[in-house]
Amino acid sequence: MATEKLFYENVYCKTFQAKVLSCAAGKHGFDVVLDKTAFYPEGGGQPGDTGYLADVRVTDTHEANGEIVHYCEKPLDVGSNVEGRIDWERRLSLMQLHSGEHILSGIVHRRFGYDNVGFHMGADMVTIDFSGVLTEEDLKAVEREANEVVWENREIKITFPSAQELEQIPYRSKKVLTGDVRIVTIENADICACCGTHVTRTGEIGLIKIFSCVKFHEGVRLEILCGMRAYEYVNRLMEQNRKNSALLSAKPTETNAAAERMAEELASVKYRVSQVENELFSLKAKAYAGENDVLLFESAMGPDAVRRFADAILAGCTGRIAIFAGDDETGYKYALCKKDGDLRETVKALNAACNGRGGGKPFFAQGSVQASRAQLEAFFASLG
Ligand SMILES: [Zn+2]
Repeated sequence: MATEKLFYENVYCKTFQAKVLSCAAGKHGFDVVLDKTAFYPEGGGQPGDTGYLADVRVTDTHEANGEIVHYCEKPLDVGSNVEGRIDWERRLSLMQLHSGEHILSGIVHRRFGYDNVGFHMGADMVTIDFSGVLTEEDLKAVEREANEVVWENREIKITFPSAQELEQIPYRSKKVLTGDVRIVTIENADICACCGTHVTRTGEIGLIKIFSCVKFHEGVRLEILCGMRAYEYVNRLMEQNRKNSALLSAKPTETNAAAERMAEELASVKYRVSQVENELFSLKAKAYAGENDVLLFESAMGPDAVRRFADAILAGCTGRIAIFAGDDETGYKYALCKKDGDLRETVKALNAACNGRGGGKPFFAQGSVQASRAQLEAFFASLG
């Protein structure tokens, strides 16, 4: 006896009474089959339902060999009557996403003739792949029209047309279908063959939001969310913007302009710092002019500054120059150089002796070491 599909009779059925027809140990706990169920089995891009049968957790629902199988964490007595309860908020959000996806796909198909060639409901984002390219302007127009369909609260109808009727219906479908075809019609927006669960009026979707669009194969991949999931994600974005707004002392609608100003300021400060550093480096370098080997320890600076300092000394010094910037706690960045020299063996030995990494050209190497100043001094003393 095939399980009665309560999720098709009434898509809003949250709890129900059913009889356990079979229960067998499976890969996902216990596979339970009921005489009727409101648990939607994974299909058409929509994940299977979760919930409870009596007090036993249902972790997923799948259709296999024509049977709807509930993956249960514990066994249930065959022949017993159980109350089923689906995780309603999760299911409603999946229905909002699924119906929203149909609306977007229908609009893209009508406006541009592109097909939906991939649909994935991920934990964070839902993706839809289209067979052609959409511009930012196109996306704005599509999103706007999709939400107008929501605001107009149009009916979503499920029908099973005869083969003859079907020939006259311009419905979207991913494959050639035979037998009973379930058609989901969203008034003036989309007609599509689909086995999933949908809300009955578009108003229930609440919001359809496109978050990103990237090139994918010959077309594009969109990240979208609808309903509850869109609401929660927009809240997260707003929280980020609220914090940025406080940090930048800018109105929430003006954070980007403030961030741009800050980035410009930072770039000019960095430029000024490097100018001052260069002046300092050339002053300091004068003290080493004409010296042979130089070993210097400086406070922490970036690899670029270490390089510029080494360059400044190199200009007036013929010996081996070793600069270490940092401290014993966090390690040192180094530059090791010698005019027309070949320090490859020295660099190798330094890295080996002082827990370092780095390299470069024969006459100029850069890297870092995790060693103390005493260890480094001992290493250079050993070189003579
Ligand atoms: Zn569908």
